[in-house]
Amino acid sequence: MSIFTKIISGEIPSYKVAENEKFYAFLDINPNAKGHTLVVPKEEVNKLFDLDEELYNELMSFSRKIAIAIEKAVPCKRIGLSVIGLEVPHVHVHLIPLQAMEDIQFIKKVTLQPEEFEAIAKAIADNL
Ligand code: AMP
Repeated sequence: MSIFTKIISGEIPSYKVAENEKFYAFLDINPNAKGHTLVVPKEEVNKLFDLDEELYNELMSFSRKIAIAIEKAVPCKRIGLSVIGLEVPHVHVHLIPLQAMEDIQFIKKVTLQPEEFEAIAKAIADNL
């Protein structure tokens, strides 16, 4: 069982942004930038392009809605999207508020307090 499956089930806590029957969106715990969000299909599939085409399209559509809300909630130039998966073998879309190229390069991290995570998750959810 992946760590994200445990997050979706509530076994491991997360700063939830949104959820529907197929997807779960929450803040990355080690963010590149304030507002860095992960969107995960509840079905535990390892690789993005192994998703069936319908679920893949729905994941992108759900991620688009979340990205639009992040852009309203977090000051940034635009929202970057990245899919990596080298650390957690459960499909997840990274949505990252960008000010500069380095924000999407996973080389610089920001430290946030629990209250800041909570406030950002709420601000994004309030813009959905
Ligand atoms: P990757 O698999 O390379 O796309 O990276 C996995 C991402 O998941 C990293 O950005 C981690 O910070 C993030 N991550 C790992 N564990 C958790 C967790 N418990 N809650 C939130 N984000 C996590």
